[in-house]
Amino acid sequence: MCLAGQTRPLRDAVALTAEEEAAGWVLTCTHEAMSSLVLDIEDLGALAGISEKTLPARIDALQRVASDVMRVELRLPPTTGFNFVAGQSISLTGPSGARRSYSLAGDPDRLGRIELHVREVPGGVLSAYWFGEAKVNDLLRFRGPSGTFFLREVSGHDVVFLATGTGIAPITSMLAQLHAMPDGSRPASVALYWGGRVPQDLYCDPSDIYPALEYVPVLSRAGAGWHGERGYVQDVFLSRTRADPNTHIYACGSEVMVNAARRTLLAAGLPPRRFHFDAFVSSA
Ligand SMILES: Cc1cc2nc3c(=O)[nH]c(=O)nc-3n(C[C@H](O)[C@H](O)[C@H](O)COP(=O)(O)OP(=O)(O)OC[C@H]3O[C@@H](n4cnc5c(N)ncnc54)[C@H](O)[C@@H]3O)c2cc1C
Repeated sequence: MCLAGQTRPLRDAVALTAEEEAAGWVLTCTHEAMSSLVLDIEDLGALAGISEKTLPARIDALQRVASDVMRVELRLPPTTGFNFVAGQSISLTGPSGARRSYSLAGDPDRLGRIELHVREVPGGVLSAYWFGEAKVNDLLRFRGPSGTFFLREVSGHDVVFLATGTGIAPITSMLAQLHAMPDGSRPASVALYWGGRVPQDLYCDPSDIYPALEYVPVLSRAGAGWHGERGYVQDVFLSRTRADPNTHIYACGSEVMVNAARRTLLAAGLPPRRFHFDAFVSSA
């Protein structure tokens, strides 16, 4: 939040509500400083040592994990020293020159390889590439890592992930990070509410990454044979538990879900600083 001084928008801050903008919230990715500023900001110390770079990468593997989701593995040149904090994303340039953001999935400690989960958007420029033309060994370019969607203090807290579709990608990375932590520093509990329309949309089993996970799959258009939860992830979460002030929520995926979850959970008493999010807004 900007407490004093002037900023200027570089582009629309689509992830902020009108109320947040009116209250003085600014996104440092969409605004530049026009004077000295007094900011009320979070500790982003976890990002120390992470620097954005522009790097080449070759496609190492392409795996269709659902009818409209491709798991992409990229191979980086051996000495790039690329590292990221679980939850961050990259901006990838396709062969046509179009740039799109993708969250980094999988183990953040894996060297020399990065993983993306790409959903096909009908008529989308990079969707046409991934689902029609991409092949192993294609040479691409990306810039990153970037973003402040990462795990805050987790020790002894309840951590709840809310995801829709490929919003699971950065969460697989966060689960791998939690799994790698020593016993005493892990959260008190870790739950994941992952939403899709039909069972095939939930294309991996996140419990494989973090076995103590309370995993709640949620479907919005399930058939009669589905005995799990139905509806929307934030509503299912609130119907099973309450937004305790000790809970940290991490929401990722469609803008509609992220905005609805934020509204609903803050109204239910969750402190705003306990809601962390990354909305997959269109970069076109
Ligand atoms: C920080 C960040 C991280 C992201 N991470 C991922 C990720 O891990 N996996 C992933 O699949 N996507 C992710 N996205 C979305 C991604 O960047 C692209 O927007 C999306 O893949 C569509 O690109 P495209 O070139 O295929 O379609 P475009 O050519 O960009 O768009 C085609 C049409 O579809 C609309 N559109 C674009 N994106 C969406 C959308 N997400 N939902 C609905 N309509 C849309 C556009 O407005 C346009 O009308 C992320 C976005 C952001 C900002």
